[in-house]
Amino acid sequence: MQNIIQTIDQWAIDQPEAIAYQSEKESFSYQTLRQWSDHIAYYLHQTIEAKQPIVVFGELEFDMLASFLGVAKSGHAYIPIESNTPFDRIELILAVAQPAMILSVMPWPEEIKSDIPVVSPAGLRALFTTEQKEVALTPVMEDETFYIIFTSGTTGVPKGVQISHKNLLSFTEWDLADFGIQSGMRFLSQAPYSFDLSVMSVYPALCSGGTLIPMEKKIINDFKQLFHFLPQLNLDVWVSTPSFMDICLMEKTFDGEHVPSLKVFQFCGEELTRKTAEELLRRFPQAKVFNTYGPTEATVAMTKIEVTAEVLAEYDRVPIGYIKKDTEVLIYDENKAVSAGEAGEIIIKGPSVSKGYLHNPEKTAAAFFTIDGVPAYRTGDAGRLTEEGLLLYEGRIDFQVKLHGFRIELEDIDHHLEKVSFVKQATVVPKYQAHKVQQLVAYVVAKDNEFEKNYQLTKAIKEELAEGVMEYMIPQKFVYVEQLPRTMNGKIDRKCLISEVNS
Ligand code: AMP
Repeated sequence: MQNIIQTIDQWAIDQPEAIAYQSEKESFSYQTLRQWSDHIAYYLHQTIEAKQPIVVFGELEFDMLASFLGVAKSGHAYIPIESNTPFDRIELILAVAQPAMILSVMPWPEEIKSDIPVVSPAGLRALFTTEQKEVALTPVMEDETFYIIFTSGTTGVPKGVQISHKNLLSFTEWDLADFGIQSGMRFLSQAPYSFDLSVMSVYPALCSGGTLIPMEKKIINDFKQLFHFLPQLNLDVWVSTPSFMDICLMEKTFDGEHVPSLKVFQFCGEELTRKTAEELLRRFPQAKVFNTYGPTEATVAMTKIEVTAEVLAEYDRVPIGYIKKDTEVLIYDENKAVSAGEAGEIIIKGPSVSKGYLHNPEKTAAAFFTIDGVPAYRTGDAGRLTEEGLLLYEGRIDFQVKLHGFRIELEDIDHHLEKVSFVKQATVVPKYQAHKVQQLVAYVVAKDNEFEKNYQLTKAIKEELAEGVMEYMIPQKFVYVEQLPRTMNGKIDRKCLISEVNS
């Protein structure tokens, strides 16, 4: 494979009627994907001069995919923003990204302050479905940025990870080669497009002539509907966080007997616990279960292991896997590589490492560097490599956590929490169970207030906090204290609170 866009378009030529996307209500063929993305690309190419990125706003609709490809075909990078993102966070993303245009698949909120041109959902559909003047396109290539995904930043400002065509190609080629994926398979598409796990469904599916099967939030949030639909989807490839699988495993009939089509499980984004892995092997003995690992900054994932009974017998904690061929992992202690078996920070070196954070040279310089001219990234993850080249994960060396697979900098929540009008000081800590965050606990020094009960204060704080942070970043528990513990040099002692919460 040489090129992502050409590969997807080739399916439209070879099998125009093949289904690229199938939701409960609608199906769209590869031919439609090609036509719609061409139309929007012609429009963008003629409308936008500068090489600025373009925001695509919505949920898991087909129009999102057609927009992504259209934007890339027109030579621009796309930025997926989920429609339930708080307005303050959207404004921060716009301020960092300076996009040239917003393609809104869902209605764009009028409350957002910006003068960037917005194409409405109806306007977008009209552009997709009407012939546009054909022009020679200059699609995104090589090191040019294909997409930008925003993640939580420690200062409260999201960081935009820039992924080039070369990065995406390196990931997709590996994913298609190493997981037993064949052309025409049906892929679960459950992760929001603004979370890089979604890339593990989208590009492997579309580059192999497969079908994306979106699982909308309203179905996920309704157990009855979820378990009613799951067996009917005829999925071959399952891509999700282990947390989402834990929800599905609550249904007793979710097994190989009732859902026999499932052949491949790919997990990424957070720890796959032994418990989940063991249960999966028991329920789906005919399928292959893969644990994969990687940060958004190295394009979704770059290690994998097939989890088997033998692997579970040998390792207490499920290993994160063997490194993909074109990539190297080094383990650093104090900026120097250590030998096999020794613990340190996981450093990734290879062609899927991003060029850095958009318009953020400071954070880029802190995390990205080169080794012998090859891009490298400091993950902030602790781990060790075995003699056989197997990577083992040992947690974070900073205050980044994963909750249900979502990446959160605890400092990001602190920052927004301290801006809430009822809060004098605050800090958030994770409560763990079997290496996984179960809950976020906020320790708060409250300002004088009129509330009679703490739960009323908590409700008011949560409401105000929700204006600035994603729903998954809102702590589940609030503890009110007179003062927060301090370290010797006067900083808030988060580690002390972490041990208190987890004792
Ligand atoms: P994200 O950028 O959202 O993909 O988050 C990347 C981070 O998630 C990594 O740096 C790890 O801390 C964590 N992570 C991803 N995959 C795994 C895994 N298989 N096991 C444990 N942690 C993981």
